[in-house]
Amino acid sequence: MARRRQIYEGKAKILYEGPEPGTLIQYFKDDATAFNAQKRGTINGKGVLNNRISEHVFTLLGNIGVPTHFIRRLNMREQLIRQVEIVPIEVIVRNVAAGTLSKRLGIEEGTQLPRTLIEYCYKDDALGDPLVAEEHIACFNWCSQDELHDIQDMAIRINDFMSGMFAAVGIRLVDFKLEFGRLYEGDFSRIILADEISPDGCRLWDMTTNEKLDKDRFRRDLGGEVEAYQEVARRLGLMPEGNENAVLDLESHRKKKGS
Ligand code: 5GP
Repeated sequence: MARRRQIYEGKAKILYEGPEPGTLIQYFKDDATAFNAQKRGTINGKGVLNNRISEHVFTLLGNIGVPTHFIRRLNMREQLIRQVEIVPIEVIVRNVAAGTLSKRLGIEEGTQLPRTLIEYCYKDDALGDPLVAEEHIACFNWCSQDELHDIQDMAIRINDFMSGMFAAVGIRLVDFKLEFGRLYEGDFSRIILADEISPDGCRLWDMTTNEKLDKDRFRRDLGGEVEAYQEVARRLGLMPEGNENAVLDLESHRKKKGS
């Protein structure tokens, strides 16, 4: 069998040519990076968990009418997706102050924001994905005004849906990152949700303990990354039946570390 063609390799994923024109295979790696790839590591099993979590979230979003690139999961680490032209903007949705917002504006982490905040970063690794304004997006024509409206509408719908989905399992959706792409249909294109939604690109805090259940465990050297990702999958009902014991609870992890 011919070796399939690699289209792109990113920090956490590889894209291969798909079985039909207009499709790609998205492979989820265990590699983890932070701070613009200055910190690198591996989280064993992360790719499998993110593939499953992202499949779940994209499927539910599809069910409520949010168009996405997801077609179906192929195996433990791969999913079939529609090929899109990625809009070079990371869309950050925030409900609670944390991360770079807290640092930039001196707002204490955990402060509930008075309204949902949408921020944009220009996707450029060499520049460290700088924060940009809507004016920059229009000025440099990274997407049209109509496309940006569609992106904003979808981001708000996705946030409302996901906030509820996670709240139902005792998780606070603090913030997250989205990426969108253009799907070409003849002479026209429309914006659809692309990339992934997983604990790599979301801040997820336990609602009662504020325990971090996301990539901040890696970024901030807290340990217990796999356990946190497993816990998210378990609460969403995605862990195999009878496998509850596979989840090492974070409380005992913390005690072991003596913090
Ligand atoms: P912050 O700007 O505070 O670092 O990140 C805000 C949110 O967007 C966090 O949930 C973070 O995980 C996500 N995010 C921002 N930039 C990236 C990125 O380049 N990759 C990933 N996976 N997530 C990101």
